[in-house]
Parts: sequence; C-alpha cells; structure tokens
Amino acid sequence: MPEGDTVARQCRILHEALAGATLTGCDLRVPRAATADLVGWCVQEVRPRGKHLLLRLLPPSPGAVPLTLHTHLMMDGIWHVDGRALRSSDTSAGPRPAATIRAVLTARHEDGRQTRAIAYDVKQVRLVRTADEDSLVGHLGPDLLDPLWDDAHRERAVQNLAAEPEREIGLALLDQRNLAGIGNIYRSELCFLRRVHPAAPTGSAGDLRGFVDLAHRLLVLNQDRAVRVTTGGMLGRDGDLWVYGRGGRQCRRCRARIQRGELGDPRLEGTEPRVLWFCPRCQVGPGAPARGTGR
Ligand SMILES: [Zn+2]
Repeated sequence: MPEGDTVARQCRILHEALAGATLTGCDLRVPRAATADLVGWCVQEVRPRGKHLLLRLLPPSPGAVPLTLHTHLMMDGIWHVDGRALRSSDTSAGPRPAATIRAVLTARHEDGRQTRAIAYDVKQVRLVRTADEDSLVGHLGPDLLDPLWDDAHRERAVQNLAAEPEREIGLALLDQRNLAGIGNIYRSELCFLRRVHPAAPTGSAGDLRGFVDLAHRLLVLNQDRAVRVTTGGMLGRDGDLWVYGRGGRQCRRCRARIQRGELGDPRLEGTEPRVLWFCPRCQVGPGAPARGTGR
C-alpha cells in the first residue's frame, strides 16, 4: 500500500508531463469507463488527495463540464510516463504485464511534444464531474501533504484520532478518515519514534498532537525523495528506517530484536496492511502485544 508521499510524487511527475497537453488518445480498461471518449480534452492538472490521484480535464467545447479521472494505487498500482516507472522505494520494481494496464493516456503539447502515461494495476478508475470529486474523496480527513496544512488541519486530525480512544493507535493512524496519507510504513515508524506500542489504545498513546506533527513532518520531508528516510539519514547505507521490514534484526536504538506483528482492519480503505514491526523493548506500555512471530 502506498504512502501519501509516494502518491504526491507520482502526481507531481504526471502533472509535469501532462498539464496543458491535449489528449490524443484515451484508453480506460475498466468496464464502467471503457466507452469514455476524452480525445481533445485538455489536462488541467494532476493533484493528490490523500492516496487518491485526481487528473482534472477541461472539455474541448465550452458547454461541457470539466471531468476528473480518479485512480487509487491501492497495493500495487503505479503510473509510468514515457516508459519510465514513477517508482518510490516501496513500490515493486520491474516491468509490468500488459494485462495489468488499466489506463493509457497519450497527449500532445502545443510545441508538438508527445507524452504517454500508462497506469498499471491501479484500482477505482473512475470518471466523475470535477464538481463531484467529493463523492470520491470527501470522506478523507485532513491531508498531511496539503500545501495549505495549518493548525486547523492539525486540530481536526487530533480530534478525529481522539474520538475513538479505545481503538488501537496502529489502526487509527491508517484510517484515512482520521487523517490522510499514512500507510503501513509510516504507522510502524511513527509508533516507534513515539515509543508507543502499535496496539496501544489511542487514548493511552500519549500526545496525539505529537503523532500528527511528526507524521506531517516525515511526509513533507520525504515527498521529494526517491528513498524514504525516517531516521534522519545519519545511519548510512540500509539505515533509512527504524523498524519497518526489519524483523529479527537489532533495534538501532536498544539492540533488542525487532518483532513482526499483525494489526489490521478489513474496513480500512486500500488495506491489506496487517503486518507491522516494533521494538519489544522501546515500545512498551499500554497495548497488548501484537501477534509477534519474532521475524
Ligand atoms: Zn529498541
């Protein structure tokens, strides 16, 4: 499952490649949008909203209403531009089979430059009126990568988290209705950095403002980086993360063995992210231990 910073990065590259260009081809390979003919439409912009990509289109004739092509990367989705994968460190590498193509957009700029963008394995490919985007993303909490992020966003995110004090903090952070942008990597890293067990009830997880501020800072720091870093980048090669994916290895702080556990909720958007990692010595206190396997 992608993190918000991965989605923001893909949106930025798509925006740079497509904004201002006119579509010369549009092939949406999902039944509900397969008949859409968007040739002649102009790409206005590509914007992230949490983990959702919104590609906004202006009609060729003034009478028609603007449309938004919405996609979600879910677990394995990725966009390629001109054959180049918009890849981040948590997205699987390698060529994708043609059968997994869900959208192909070709476009021409005014100077004659041509661009082709292909979406592999994306989910929820939908075309809606731009004015109706909220029907797709209106349920999301404050977006950690909103350029206008301010104290009001922060307080709303804190209130959303605090509204369910019994819920495990490791699940509350993933719930995009509380705040948008955190995936499985950041939830493990945030809980480690805050010295809280991921299964701790949110009401016992300490200062929630601290969680939200840290999440915002980490996503902003990483949104332009090809390799995600939560450790400050001082630990050298292979030292980018504190606990995520490090089961059985030594904690960088206390040398205990990092444990792998599970904590998931099938109701959460875009999830299979049950797996998490934590340090059994640094992250003690409230919260029953997740089912550790020791690896
Ligand atoms: Zn430790």
